[in-house]
Amino acid sequence: MARYNGPVCRLCRREGTKLYLKSDRCYTDKCAINRRNYSPGQHGQGKKKLTNHGVQLREKQKVRRYYGVLEGQFVKYFEMADKMSGITGENLLKILELRLDNVVYRLGLASSRAEARQLVVHGHYSVNGKKTDIPSMILKTGDVIQVIEKSRNSIKFKDLIENHKNTAPQWLQVDPENFSGKIIAEPAREDIELPIEEHLIVEWYSK
Ligand code: SF4
Repeated sequence: MARYNGPVCRLCRREGTKLYLKSDRCYTDKCAINRRNYSPGQHGQGKKKLTNHGVQLREKQKVRRYYGVLEGQFVKYFEMADKMSGITGENLLKILELRLDNVVYRLGLASSRAEARQLVVHGHYSVNGKKTDIPSMILKTGDVIQVIEKSRNSIKFKDLIENHKNTAPQWLQVDPENFSGKIIAEPAREDIELPIEEHLIVEWYSK
């Protein structure tokens, strides 16, 4: 399935919750969820009762959209999570949190996950000193992420660092002066701000 290129606020309205797909706008009154919290389209304001199946599907789509992951990749993550010890749903969220594009965003080195993905693809970051352009790279504790030297003088990164607010979760350590950050622990379940019932995703894929 191709990546969705339409207006992203529609995705939040479809899922009925903020997915934080834009940067600052998501935290203002201009957010479409604050203004029109009903599904897009002609029948969007009609109330539809979802079946169990529908509820599980929506939960899976919500998380997929939140992290900007395509279905095929999401299935692979689920299979990885299922093979790990511990709770499959939590393992899945941990894997998603450890994607390079998510970590870059969480560190405040990009203003949204979509922007992080694009900046990674364009080769603006290194992991442990090695330049990488793979947004789906899964990181681990101890990894150091940094904006490469050459990119630090760009207006984009100067702006990001000047306006940097440390909102990183506890498992990350940010060093804005050096355009970098480090993973100091595994992500915890409570660090994910989106209300997610991950057991519904496990049920969806366990049929
Ligand atoms: Fe749009 Fe962000 Fe609000 Fe979602 S959370 S509707 S992306 S402004």
